[in-house]
Amino acid sequence: MDVVVAVRQVPGERKGGFHYVTADNFIFHRYKRSAQSEYFRCRKYESFGCLARLRQTDHQYFKTGSEHNHENETEEIRKIAVVNECVKYRSDYSSFLRITYNV
Ligand SMILES: [Zn+2]
Repeated sequence: MDVVVAVRQVPGERKGGFHYVTADNFIFHRYKRSAQSEYFRCRKYESFGCLARLRQTDHQYFKTGSEHNHENETEEIRKIAVVNECVKYRSDYSSFLRITYNV
């Protein structure tokens, strides 16, 4: 029986890229897509050989693969949130300049 997990999408460094963050603070990236499903693997797949996986079908995420073989990424997720906040601020600020001073 597959376990349903809560996942939120967080914008990544690359434009249009996303981090997929689970409620217990692990970060996944999408690596495969089929007609019915999308597949995600832990981003520590390469560095730690972590085999934790997620599958998304019908807007639900399911835990597949193994347990993580490393600590969760609470600190890293916090940093990503700060970076995204800055990016958002910068683009708000440049829209403000454009509208106000027409630059
Ligand atoms: Zn992992």
